[in-house]
Amino acid sequence: MASQTGAIVQRSLDALLEDPSFLPEVQGNSRIQAFTSLAAILSTPNQIHKAFLRIPLENGNVVRIPAYRVQHNNTLGPYKGGIRFHESVNEEEVTNLAALMTLKNALHDVPFGGGKGGVAINPRDYSVKELHLISTKYVQYFSDSLGPDKDIPAPDVGTGDREMDWMTAEYKSIRPGKPYRGSFTGKSVVNGGSLGRREATGKGVYFTFRYMLHDFLEEQSKWLDGKENIFAQTALAHKDRLLKIAVQGFGNVGSIAALEAYQDNHLHTKVIAVSDRNVTLYNEEGLDIPTLLDFATGNRGDLPVTEEQLGICGVKASILDREEVLYLETDVLILAALEDQVHKDNVDKIQARILVEGANAPVTGDADKILNDKGIIVIPDILANAGGVIVSYFEWLQGRETQFYSEDEVFRLLFQKMQTTLDTILPQYFGDPYSLRQNCYIHAVMKLSTVLHRQGKLY
Ligand code: GLU
Repeated sequence: MASQTGAIVQRSLDALLEDPSFLPEVQGNSRIQAFTSLAAILSTPNQIHKAFLRIPLENGNVVRIPAYRVQHNNTLGPYKGGIRFHESVNEEEVTNLAALMTLKNALHDVPFGGGKGGVAINPRDYSVKELHLISTKYVQYFSDSLGPDKDIPAPDVGTGDREMDWMTAEYKSIRPGKPYRGSFTGKSVVNGGSLGRREATGKGVYFTFRYMLHDFLEEQSKWLDGKENIFAQTALAHKDRLLKIAVQGFGNVGSIAALEAYQDNHLHTKVIAVSDRNVTLYNEEGLDIPTLLDFATGNRGDLPVTEEQLGICGVKASILDREEVLYLETDVLILAALEDQVHKDNVDKIQARILVEGANAPVTGDADKILNDKGIIVIPDILANAGGVIVSYFEWLQGRETQFYSEDEVFRLLFQKMQTTLDTILPQYFGDPYSLRQNCYIHAVMKLSTVLHRQGKLY
C-alpha cells in the first residue's frame, strides 16, 4: 500500500485502539495483538497477479505489455474495482488503488472487497482491434482469479463500456454455462449494464459536494454556528453565496460533475473553468458546459483548443495552459483527472477553499495536511467518487435478477446510499479535529475491523 493510504489506515487504527467504545470486549494484551493483526492485514494486499500480455500488433510486431490485477481485501465481499489503461500503470499504483477500493466499499456499506487492475499502455496509441485483443488477453490471463462471486472488474481511467463488453464476452466463452452478467460491471446498457452507470461517478461527486454545502448546512447551520471547528467555519462562509467552480478533467467524471454544477438549482453556482489533457478553458462569467460536452463528444473527448474551435461551437472562453485550472481564483476545485495533481510543490498556489476528489488520490499526503491545516475542506476520493462502484453494485444485483431498474430509480438509490454515509460522517467531521479523509478512513477501518474480529481473523 502506498505510504499515504497506509499511513492514514495506521492513524485510524491508533485512534480506534484508544477508543474504549470500539471492540470493548477486546482488552489488555489481546487488544494490542488484535490491532497489530489489523495493521498487518489492512496494509498488504491478499494477492498481486501480474502478467506480460503477448500482443501481435497490426504492423506485424509482437509486444509484451505489463498487466496487473491486485486483490487487496475480500473481508466484506468479492474483490471489486476498475481496470485502468494508462501508461503510468505500475504495481505500486494499482496496489494503492486496490486498497482505496477496499476502504471505499467499506465506507459506503457496499458488500464488496477491494481490487484494481491495470494495463500499462496509452490506449490512444493502439487501434480498436489491438485494444480488443489487449482486453480479451487480459481476461484470458487472469480468468482463474475473476468471476461474479470472486472478483468483479469495472471501467476506470482509459476504459469504458466497450472494454467491459469485450471482456464479458471473453469471460463467457472461457467459462461456458456459468453466470457471466455479474462478472464485469460498467457494461453497455444493451449488454446488461445499468442505466445511469456511466454518469454515476460524476453525479455522485457533485451530489456529495452539494449535500454538504446545501442540504446538510440548511439543516445543521445552527448547530454548526456554535462550533469552533475550522472546517465548520469554512463551510458556513460558503453558504448562500455565489460559488465559483473549476473542474480539472473533462472525462467521464469531470464532464458530468461540471454539467451537474452548471444545472444545479439548489446552490448558486457557476462553472468558471474546465480542463483536460490539452487545455484549460476559463470564463469568469461562467462556461456553457452543455455545448462543451457536445463538442467533446464529437471530438474524441477533447475540449476545443483553438479560438477557431471555440468559435465553431460558439463558446466564449480564454485558452490557458492545462495546469492553470488548479491555480485560478475559485471557491471550489473539483479534481477529476489523475492522482498526484496537488502536491507539496504546488499546494501553496491553490486558491480554492473547497476541494473535491473526483479522481482517486489527486491530492498527495503532504499537500492534504497543508490544506487541512489551513481550514480548507478536502472531500476525499473514497467519500466523493463512490458513485461508480455503488451503481456497479446495482448493476451486479440487476444482472443476478435479470430485472432492470429505471434511470430515475438508479439515481434515487445512489443518492440515498451516499446520503446515508454523509449523514454518519459529516456530524463527526464538523465536531472533531480530524480531516474529512481521516474521518472516512476511521469509519471504513472500523467496519473492516469489526467484521475481521467477528470472523475470528485476528488471533
Ligand atoms: N473505477 C471506479 C472506482 O475507482 C469504479 C469501480 C467499480 O465500479 O467497481 O471507483
